[in-house]
Parts: sequence; structure tokens; C-alpha cells
Amino acid sequence: MFPTELKILKAHGTQYIRNLKTVELHPLFRGRPELSGEAKPKDINELERLCPTGAISAAPEFSLDLGRCMFCGECQFCKPQIIRFTNDYNIATNRRENLTVTASTKAIHFDHKAVRPEIRKLFGSALKLRQVSAGGDNSCEMELNACGNVNFDMGRFGIEFLASPRHCDGIVVTGPVSQNMSAALQMCYDAVPEPKILILAGTEAISGGMFNNSPAIDRSFVEKYTTDLFVPGNPIHPLTFINGLRELLLELPLSES
Ligand code: SF4
Repeated sequence: MFPTELKILKAHGTQYIRNLKTVELHPLFRGRPELSGEAKPKDINELERLCPTGAISAAPEFSLDLGRCMFCGECQFCKPQIIRFTNDYNIATNRRENLTVTASTKAIHFDHKAVRPEIRKLFGSALKLRQVSAGGDNSCEMELNACGNVNFDMGRFGIEFLASPRHCDGIVVTGPVSQNMSAALQMCYDAVPEPKILILAGTEAISGGMFNNSPAIDRSFVEKYTTDLFVPGNPIHPLTFINGLRELLLELPLSES
């Protein structure tokens, strides 16, 4: 290598985030919410009516579904005494029901026993993914692009996006799945060889989000297949996506990068 290039590399220093599990995000980042166990029914009912996507429920107990939440923050603005978003970004999980946060939730649980054995056996050290934007607004898509940048550097774990689904091990769906994209999404999924994984990235992919009741979306694809990883967020954060994938692939302890 030429001396000039070495000098440039030295000047750049270390740009990648060494430990993606312990990095601290800005306090204003909205990640896992905390709900109060002392909330009054009147206040919860008010939030239920306020939430645009029906993410907040009063029964059987006060809860917030991260798979529906758009992270708009209106509930916190309205009732900061009973709901507060923390900057905990480790909120991806492999079970849909684990996205429901209650007053007793201290972390989003990942069910390692539910991971298909072939996923860790075959994709633990290398995983190629095809991304399908199924009516997305390009926000989650941009964050997925950021996963490969010099800071997050997802490629260091052998994870990367490829163009051809035939060369991939799974697909990452973003967007609520519009009718116009449903056939293309199915074709893409069919083109990925078995065994394959399915990841839903972003609130819209997980539940339809704001478009949940729209006649322009077709959720039959999502309902037909088992999802291996749910990555909530609107948009998702690269740390949520990469850490969720690492949990799915390797079951890493918190201290390991
Ligand atoms: S932050 Fe989530 S739960 Fe709160 S009002 Fe917005 S969409 Fe509803």
C-alpha cells in the first residue's frame, strides 16, 4: 500500500462502531416504551382513542404493541406520567406476541428456542438477503442501506444485501405490502432457495401500520408464511436490525460485538 493511503487511513481512525449492542443512542431516540403500572383507566382510554394505529390497549391490561406503533410520540406528549419511550433499540424479536409491551416489560424478549436449527447451522457466518420494498416510503429502505455503511458495517458479520433472490438466503420486506407489489413479492420469495428466512422490517411490514385498513394493501403474503424476525420501528434503526439478526443467527451475549 502506498504511504499516502496509509496516512489517509490513519487520519480516518476507527470509524466503525465496535460494539453494536452497548452503544448509547441520543435520549430523544424512541425505542422500547415503558408503561406505568399506576395508570388510571380514564387516561389509558384517552390514549387508546388518540393512537392512530390502535397500538395502545386498555384490556386485558394497559399495553402497547410495537408491531403497530408508528413511534409518533403523541401518547408520551399527551400522558408523560404513564408512558415514556426509552432509547433502548434492542427491540427486534422472533415472536410477534413479544412486541406487546406492558408495565412489567423491562426488555423485548427473543425466544432462542424458537429459532429453526437450520438457520444457525447454515447462515451463522454468512447471510445474503434480498430486500423487497412492498409499498414502502423509502424510510426503512434507507436505514437498511445504512446498515452496510462504514459506521454500522454489517458486512463484518458476513451479512449483506444482494440483487438476485436466487443467490440469497432470505428476504427482508418493508412497506405494508400494496396490492401492486404482492405478486412481485411472492415471485421474489419463491425464487429464494430453501431453506430461507423471512424478515419483516418496520411497523408497516409487521402490521400494515397507518394503512392497516386500506383496500390498497394485500396482507395475504405476510399471513401465509412464518416470520423469522420482526424488526419494529418507523423507520427501523440499523442497530435494531443488525442486533436482531445477530440474535437470530448466533445468540450472542451482550458484551460481544
Ligand atoms: S407513539 Fe405509537 S402508541 Fe403512541 S400514539 Fe404514536 S403510534 Fe400510538
